[in-house]
Amino acid sequence: MAIETAAEARAWGNYVGGEWVGASGGETFDVINPATEEVLGSVPKMSREDTQRAIATARETFDSGVWSQLAPDERSRIMLGVVEKFTEHEDELAALETAQAGMTIRATSTVVIGYCINHWDYFARAANRQLQEPLEPVAFPTHSYNFVLREPIGVCAGIIPWNFPLVMAVWKLAPALAMGNTMVLKPASNTPLTALRLAELLDETELPKGVVNVITGGGASVGEELASHPDVDKISFTGSTVVGRRIMQLASSTIKKCTLELGGKSPNIVYEDADIPAAVDGALWATFFHQGQVCESGTRLILPDSIHDEFIERLVERAKTITLGDPMDYDTDMGPLISSEQLETVSNYVRIGQEEGAKLVLGGKRASVDGRGYYFEPTIFTEVDNAMTIAQEEIFGPVLSVIKVSDDDEAIAVANDTIYGLASAVWTEDYDRALETAKRLRAGTVWVNDHHLINCIAPFGGYKQSGLGRELGSYGLDEFTEVKHVHVDLTQKAEGKMFGVLLSTPPPEP
Ligand code: NAP
Ligand code: MG
Repeated sequence: MAIETAAEARAWGNYVGGEWVGASGGETFDVINPATEEVLGSVPKMSREDTQRAIATARETFDSGVWSQLAPDERSRIMLGVVEKFTEHEDELAALETAQAGMTIRATSTVVIGYCINHWDYFARAANRQLQEPLEPVAFPTHSYNFVLREPIGVCAGIIPWNFPLVMAVWKLAPALAMGNTMVLKPASNTPLTALRLAELLDETELPKGVVNVITGGGASVGEELASHPDVDKISFTGSTVVGRRIMQLASSTIKKCTLELGGKSPNIVYEDADIPAAVDGALWATFFHQGQVCESGTRLILPDSIHDEFIERLVERAKTITLGDPMDYDTDMGPLISSEQLETVSNYVRIGQEEGAKLVLGGKRASVDGRGYYFEPTIFTEVDNAMTIAQEEIFGPVLSVIKVSDDDEAIAVANDTIYGLASAVWTEDYDRALETAKRLRAGTVWVNDHHLINCIAPFGGYKQSGLGRELGSYGLDEFTEVKHVHVDLTQKAEGKMFGVLLSTPPPEP
């Protein structure tokens, strides 16, 4: 059963200061449905100057205090209004996300939009949290009262990827707004539509104009302007490690705060005492969910010698049941990759894997559905050495590398032998073994007997070159605040203060 494509192809505007605007030069670019290769709509191709205007709007709005100085309970109430909008438009948002990103409607409608609602709701409620924190008792020379204020940082830029477009928009906007910041959000050029639709819904709420601005255009123009402009105080980026490095470099010119959520090459260790049927399905879920275009995909399956052959046999049999198809169809397991470029990248990695001596045991080819779409078969390589390119580089497609090991120490050493450290998983029924392994894995998330589970209160982010800082929970909120220490002297006289360090004569009598 397939549902109708979300929307008529239409020309979208950008949302700046509560107005719908185009690029000053009138340029636009098309957004393509990766399943049908048809144009879904067009969006403005903003220039650096257009980006500067959006930043100026976010700056003025922040400085005016309409949002940054608003009482936290008011901010919270207004943000909760957005949850209602999400809920009213759940089906439409799921369909639009599927149309632009190729993620199956089963995933968008049963998980993704629910995450958006739940995460926005969490941050909306958190907006009302205490922004003044007591300090531990400290020894100052005189009686004093000390506390810490958590304040908004100012103008934040959100730059997001194409794999989970709406979830990523929520992860940037909701915590930034909750803490009183304003934002300029730049969605990925492949998938800007749900962020723009969200802007339309925000416009129907009481959110003051100019708090959220959504602009579209290239990474090298809009993205680099946001990362370098002096009026942007913080940049919250999700994307590749290569672009993350570039952003850090640009941000350094004005010492912008940065949170970076970058790539991964997550290990998935299955010990011989695991529940094998569950681990087999878990390994497929870890790798092939959303065609492997997930930053924390478990793309390196690490198996002990003793179960390797039997496990692979089951894995391949089970993987053959995965159906590629129209992502709008509820029966489809896997949709297309995002673009023809991504198809090219994945094909290249498969070729390199074969050239370097890995054994292709499943898939390896592009596919099409009704003669169109950027599809690629679920692909499994065995006999992979962890030093091979396909084990070291993030492919961001449905390609699994299986690595054989002889014991736990080797499994953990292989798992950690990567520049990345976003996530990891271990499968075993022995919880001592699981927790010992969890402690030794150098990654921001460890799943024991599961994969991909993310929760609005659990910190998410990477060790090593998978990133800087954390998103979600109180950890994520803190990343959108400045910390201010306030010291109130309670003695009101010079006596006892440290003035004597400078002034050797006593003060005159009053
Ligand atoms: P990407 O190429 O790094 O792009 C991400 C965003 O950055 C896009 O909006 C892109 O704009 C923009 N951009 C590109 N070049 C830029 C530059 N020089 N300066 C500023 N911005 C620039 O990543 P992607 O291909 O969209 O997404 C895949 C990557 O994202 C993977 O590496 C994946 O692991 C990572 N990811 C990480 C997480 C996480 O939480 N750790 C989550 C999801 C994805 P354009 O679209 O206009 O090029
Ligand atoms: Mg890219």
